[in-house]
Amino acid sequence: AAKRTQAGVKVYDDSLDDRSRASLGLLSELRQAVEHHELRLYLQPKLNLRSQRVEGAEALVRWQHPVRGLVPPGLFIPFAEQTGFIRELSRWMLIESLRFAVQARAQGEVLRISVNLSTRDLLDADLPGKIQAWLAAEGGDPSLLCLEITESAIMDDPARALATAKDLAQQGFKLSIDDFGTGYSSLAYLKQLPVRELKIDQSFVFGMEADEGDREIVRSTINLAHNLKKSVVAEGIETQGALDLLAAMGCDEAQGYFIAKPMPADQFLAWARARAQG
Ligand code: C2E
Ligand code: CA
Ligand code: CA
Ligand code: CA
Repeated sequence: AAKRTQAGVKVYDDSLDDRSRASLGLLSELRQAVEHHELRLYLQPKLNLRSQRVEGAEALVRWQHPVRGLVPPGLFIPFAEQTGFIRELSRWMLIESLRFAVQARAQGEVLRISVNLSTRDLLDADLPGKIQAWLAAEGGDPSLLCLEITESAIMDDPARALATAKDLAQQGFKLSIDDFGTGYSSLAYLKQLPVRELKIDQSFVFGMEADEGDREIVRSTINLAHNLKKSVVAEGIETQGALDLLAAMGCDEAQGYFIAKPMPADQFLAWARARAQG
């Protein structure tokens, strides 16, 4: 465990406590996961409610662990954020998503892939340049990507996050605010952010059929987005009823288990084609 000397310098004794040991173990396992190709790109369709076409997907990471099986991101993303490993993970997700979108386009399917960025990514002033380099390497362009950022990631260090966001927007990347309505950003701040999409948090969508409050929050968010000339996506659609309500409210896009659960990227095009044929 870390101990402090009187000078305040951190030293390590050789008896690592169990938690540190477990953390170090997980970090080295995560590093190996990349090297050993254990990470998987999953995609969840985004349905355009007017055209009824699938025009994009959200990229969600999974870890195919040799012993533990398919590990969901909730079990390792928070840890990856704490340790800084998330930047390695974001790089992997961005490159895999781009590769997928470039291949899909070569097969005649134009898709925009939404990738989740973390606080650490937004604090990395070099990120916009790095993404440009990966785009060039894969033969892609900014229209293939949407970058999802959360209000809490922005509020960690608003000035720096805003600078990175502006840079990304200027380079032509579509930015989206994820989990909209659950953070603490003010509307004044929202006005400054160069985002083109709001993503309504699923917690409001789950309850919208039964709960009038949730329904009104969803309705107001759709109107707010449109008044600010932004598009709006709802996630967490689990029923036909929720889908119908959102379409009636003028929501632009929908995402949720009722349309499709996240699936391995190599199954996505077949799924989308089967759906288009009815
Ligand atoms: P998120 O970005 O809000 O992603 C939406 C989550 O809701 C996903 O969970 C998705 O599978 C789930 N979901 C979608 N539709 C429905 C539905 O109709 N009902 C229910 N109950 N759930 C639905 P998942 O894949 O487990 O990801 C959880 C969170 O982990 C994500 O929340 C995101 O914050 C984070 N995450 C996942 N992949 C990445 C990644 O590559 N990078 C980063 N930084 N974070 C990621
Ligand atoms: Ca997201
Ligand atoms: Ca979300
Ligand atoms: Ca979330």
